Amino acid sequence: MLPKLPLADGNSMPQLGLGVYQITDQATMDQAVKAAYQTGYRLFDTAQAYQNEAILGQALKNNAIPRNQIFLTTKVAEVNQGYRNTLKSVTASLKRLQTDYLDLLLVHWPIHSQFFATWRAFERLKSEKIVRSIGVSNYHQTHLDYLASQANEQPVVNQIENHPYLSQEPLLAYHRQQQIITQAWNPLGRGVVLQDPVITKIAQQHQRSVAQIILRWHLQRGLAIIPKSKSPQRIAENAAIFDFELNADEMTNIARLNQQQRTGNDPEVVYQIE
Ligand code: NAD
Repeated sequence: MLPKLPLADGNSMPQLGLGVYQITDQATMDQAVKAAYQTGYRLFDTAQAYQNEAILGQALKNNAIPRNQIFLTTKVAEVNQGYRNTLKSVTASLKRLQTDYLDLLLVHWPIHSQFFATWRAFERLKSEKIVRSIGVSNYHQTHLDYLASQANEQPVVNQIENHPYLSQEPLLAYHRQQQIITQAWNPLGRGVVLQDPVITKIAQQHQRSVAQIILRWHLQRGLAIIPKSKSPQRIAENAAIFDFELNADEMTNIARLNQQQRTGNDPEVVYQIE
């Protein structure tokens, strides 16, 4: 059984999950879900915007995976924000995923005009037990503070871009203070980080892959991770990170690689609070 992290609402969440962004055909999803489940993954991360909730739901069914054995996350897309739209879109997500509850529902990006209306819908879904935990994604501290000023339930997870070239330590420290779990998207940093010479050297010393060193670095910082792969071999490789440790110097040397390099949008710029 892979480790779980406690959430501030009393629930817990697997520290490692499979991100399924850009997996768009049924056979590939079936194979990825099967490999992940057999390896011990229990968390699957999708989003309305990925347009693959239906094939994920079907893949879980095709692989005869019991619903109560897994942790399912989806995210409300920008176009579906607002009170009524959120409720309506979650009903549609549940149908596509062939389930009657979600373990975690995230606001995909902070949209200023719908900020509190969307969150009120999230709070209602949680009170009705349609969603067990509620959180956000791509929120900066300013967004979290703004939300906290009016929310009855605080988000228990913030899913943000995080990798050695974008370590976001100040935001992570704020999360710890607020009891928010950081879940890293793009944990491997899309391509370029995987060629980094400092990490490559550490990988050679441990006889591990560069991907395994990066994922281990996240774990030791207390983050949850959702690396994406459709290859059964890489899915297994990305989970074989619980039997070795990076020392303090290695952790520091990786932390020093931070260069504020984003692969995605900067929410501070795109979704400023007026
Ligand atoms: P990632 O870091 O998981 O993957 C980056 C690349 O590395 C991919 O091309 C992948 O195929 C490759 N890779 C995976 N394992 C590897 C290995 N062992 N060796 C070499 N290469 C490997 O990046 P991602 O897909 O952007 O993020 C992961 C998940 O995060 C997504 O699937 C999605 O679920 C979620 N996500 C969320 C947001 C958001 O806004 N909340 C945005 C993007 C992605």
